[in-house]
Amino acid sequence: MSATHRIAVLAGDGIGPEVMSESLRVLDAVERKFGFTTERDSQLVGGAAIDATGHPLPPETVKACENADGILFGSVGGPKWESLPPEIQPERGALLPLRKHFGLFANLRPGVCLPSLTHASPVKNELIPDGFDVLCVRELTGGVYFGRPKGREERDGEPVAFDTMVYRKSEIERILHVAFTAAMGRGRKLVSVDKANVLATSVLWRETAVEVAREYPEVELSHLYVDNAAMQLVRRPGSFDVLVTENLFGDILSDEMAMISGSLGMLPSASLGARKEGSDLYFGMYEPSGGSAPDIAGQGVANPVAQILSAAMLLRFSLGEPAAAGAIEAAVARAIDDGFRTGDIATGADGETRVGTREMADAVIERL
Ligand code: NAD
Repeated sequence: MSATHRIAVLAGDGIGPEVMSESLRVLDAVERKFGFTTERDSQLVGGAAIDATGHPLPPETVKACENADGILFGSVGGPKWESLPPEIQPERGALLPLRKHFGLFANLRPGVCLPSLTHASPVKNELIPDGFDVLCVRELTGGVYFGRPKGREERDGEPVAFDTMVYRKSEIERILHVAFTAAMGRGRKLVSVDKANVLATSVLWRETAVEVAREYPEVELSHLYVDNAAMQLVRRPGSFDVLVTENLFGDILSDEMAMISGSLGMLPSASLGARKEGSDLYFGMYEPSGGSAPDIAGQGVANPVAQILSAAMLLRFSLGEPAAAGAIEAAVARAIDDGFRTGDIATGADGETRVGTREMADAVIERL
């Protein structure tokens, strides 16, 4: 009997709905090929939900997510809702509460530069002849952003502000398990990034990484200090497979990686929560790394690849369909190799075919 998976589909605002419908067509095609089905519950989120219900995250939307194996998310926000009170603005009022409600503690952001798109990367092309494919695993709910005490006071007649970087061993262990599991499904090389020469949290981080590594003997673990990691990423991105790091370092390094990859419209992301009982699968929310791109919304020109690859990550990490995920990733790479380009990645070079959102998805589907 073929498997049936349940997904919540939250397209959101701006280019969200147009890239979402293309990613669902790709999902239809891969389901036919691999013999499984997804039951999809589409719900409002963000500005679209504010317009319809007055709230960016209506209870029916949360319920659909609770009933699902994973969430496929588009993007939210836009100028129309920017003057609303912060707590009901699309991002603050929908994305952050969803992350909190589902305890999404692991943020996975691939930084991929395909060999035929190296021109879009700001890294010198001779350093990345074959492009690169790095996965950054960032801890999302701990560290200095959330540690207490945090605040501001007067000391000796001047203002003083302080934050606390704190990690429990169990928080470090669970993010490392995500990273090692991801590495097992890829090149089996994991770099743990810390600042163990200065920070107590990093010393615990490094000790824990070494301990957890014993459960994954096939993965080669190494360590880098964060300042060195930031340099090596621009010098030799092709030498990395998976990076794992704490919240603040990951915030910075994952943006650096997105930048050196060249195009936001190509990059998916995942935020994972609890591991499902007795399996390597996680509940998670999957979305493009970019936002709702109001400047190009409704024109049919947005690059659907980030949303399509988000669906591939959903298949891999929440639905247990890695072969289908791999097929989508390979089809995207072939479509790019064959010269299909949306406006954000086009150069006008010979051999390129300039396409819109729908044609780019067609090119991927034809190559599945
Ligand atoms: P953005 O990522 O939406 O756009 C930045 C630039 O990248 C724009 O020029 C845009 O056209 C381009 N771009 C992004 N995705 C693209 C794609 N798929 N294809 C082609 N080009 C693409 O960032 P922004 O302009 O800073 O923010 C716009 C809105 O999105 C804001 O309201 C912001 O709050 C929201 N936002 C939402 C999320 C989210 O939903 N997770 C994330 C970031 C920003």
